[in-house]
Amino acid sequence: MDINQLLRKNIQDLKPYSSARDEYTGEAMVFLDANENPFNQPYNRYPDPLQRALKEKIAVLKSVDPQQIFLGNGSDEPIDLLIRAFCEPGVDNIVTINPTYGMYQVAADISGVEIRKVSLTPEFQLDVDALLAATDENTKLIFLCSPNNPTGNSLDKKQILKVAERFKGLLIVDEAYIDFAPGKSLLPELEKFSNLVVLQTFSKAWGMAGIRLGMAFASKEITGILNKIKYPYNLNILTQQKALELLGQYEQVKEWVKLLIEERGKVAQELKKLPFVVEVYPSDANFLLVKMHDARGVYDYLVEEGIIVRDRSKVHLCTDSLRITIGVNEENNILLNTLNNLI
Ligand code: PMP
Repeated sequence: MDINQLLRKNIQDLKPYSSARDEYTGEAMVFLDANENPFNQPYNRYPDPLQRALKEKIAVLKSVDPQQIFLGNGSDEPIDLLIRAFCEPGVDNIVTINPTYGMYQVAADISGVEIRKVSLTPEFQLDVDALLAATDENTKLIFLCSPNNPTGNSLDKKQILKVAERFKGLLIVDEAYIDFAPGKSLLPELEKFSNLVVLQTFSKAWGMAGIRLGMAFASKEITGILNKIKYPYNLNILTQQKALELLGQYEQVKEWVKLLIEERGKVAQELKKLPFVVEVYPSDANFLLVKMHDARGVYDYLVEEGIIVRDRSKVHLCTDSLRITIGVNEENNILLNTLNNLI
């Protein structure tokens, strides 16, 4: 697959900005190349534009080559950059599933790129034929999300790989919630599929939504394109330092994930006992989608009680459903007790 053929012409021809830190990357006694202020160390210096130290550590953790990693200001950044690199506004289009994470649509809308949404089955699974039937010669990207937001389930891996095999553009699989799922990440499939991009994030299992750090894994040709069009210093020093620190505490992260999965099971069991709950959908993520009678009424009642969940009732296939994030045991108990008071 020739990735350049998929690229927009202006991006193919782009001469990227070359920063001082791109031109000279080694150690030196005196740095007088970037118009920095010599005071207020270490924050006076621009960060490494390619975040090499961080990528080295992530590469070991994820068993990939550092060159297969792009790091962004949340995974929202690579979502936006992929659209801007590959989709010509008013000409090209994107195909995704419905329902799914809202930012694919927003990023496409901002770029003036058509997005075609193909319904999941009533079991929230992929209809591969329908998905591919929605593509045409101008479809550059397909966005899938597994485990999916807001449904919580993983998409069948065989079906995802069928899409990777049959689609001639880029397949992006958003694995923001993969750490909470029993199934394995698609990262090993990067070897086989040069058109695959896997998104992950430090916002969920890693508990670092506040530092804004997302990852895109792909061939070095694709990560090279994203690096070419990103802001030169897209990740600040504080984010890079904090992430390096937390990468050294992976055991702690695994413990959090284990606890949240246990809590998810307990909360699901308790919710099922409530007479107004119609269905608690199986979840591979850190949230539950719950169908209930008068979801809006329940939502408003919870707000009054100081508990905020997400009303997804207006979302396709999610009529009368609330999306509830799993908190610590104490928070979950407050939620369950408050809901019990409704009976
Ligand atoms: N992908 C999915 C499926 C999400 O649900 C979210 C956040 N809710 C994101 C990506 C965004 O992640 P980040 O914080 O890394 O931008």
